[in-house]
Amino acid sequence: MSTLSRRRFLHSVGLSTMAMSAYSGTRDSAETPTPVAATRYVAAYDTESPNCLAAVRKIVEVHKKFAMPATFFITGKTLEANAEEYRGLLDDPLFEVASHTYSHRMLKDNPICGPAISLPEKRVEIFKSKEIIENIFEKPCLGLRPACGFEDGFRNAPEVLGLIEEAGYTYTSSWLWGPDFSLPALLIEPFRYEREGFPDLWELPGHGWHENLLKNNNKMGPRRLTLWPPAMPEAIPAGFLSRPEEEFAVNRIFIDKAVADKKPHVTLIWHPWSLHAFDPQMKMLEMTFQYVRDQQLSACCFRELREQVAA
Ligand SMILES: [Zn+2]
Repeated sequence: MSTLSRRRFLHSVGLSTMAMSAYSGTRDSAETPTPVAATRYVAAYDTESPNCLAAVRKIVEVHKKFAMPATFFITGKTLEANAEEYRGLLDDPLFEVASHTYSHRMLKDNPICGPAISLPEKRVEIFKSKEIIENIFEKPCLGLRPACGFEDGFRNAPEVLGLIEEAGYTYTSSWLWGPDFSLPALLIEPFRYEREGFPDLWELPGHGWHENLLKNNNKMGPRRLTLWPPAMPEAIPAGFLSRPEEEFAVNRIFIDKAVADKKPHVTLIWHPWSLHAFDPQMKMLEMTFQYVRDQQLSACCFRELREQVAA
């Protein structure tokens, strides 16, 4: 780390609480003449299997080291199985805990992950996870990231949005694919589901790759996943990744493009079990968070992003 970047890094960590709680787009200019990028960086995890617990223990340490906020989307089943441990790890002002459904079943058809379940079953997935999270963490669970996500989020799915609003969520993060269920997911900006009749319900899309697929961690082998012609050819590696440095290099492409295009946010689609299987030392997280700090991006969790875009 150079002297300059270390100084800037320490400065940005020192200001992280302010940046987290009250993003204003500007910052005391005496020490940091470089304007802060308008793009917010949002770290998030889809926490969905028994192997996630050991991973989350390590992930939490890296977040504390960098004072980096995060949203942990977690399935009700995963949380129920280790409620006290997860409470000990995630009941922290840095973190938001939100829903990844009760048991990871499909709320809409997904050609890669499978067909949608029935409407009564969707109700269980949407309501039960929220209830479990609120009972354990004793604070409102405001966000829902559906299992796998969809190419257009919950667009044109008013019956699902109706359940989501009825349950009391204020945002979803369901747009997690590029056109025609391709990857990577493009840098789509937050929007309201006004057209479907839910103007207070926000969509906060995820970006980039489902990192598990980049590493063949689902053992799916080569798949028809990319679009042609590609919207972001520079973000399509030639093969499966084998080193944390390669994953960071892919992450950086999305972060840099979000900043260059003045996007409101950038957030990558990460899974604790998969990160841990590939990179047990969590080097990729360290590299990514260091880069976010060096670039002086403000960082927040999804709940704060929703508050800021709706303000
Ligand atoms: Zn998932």
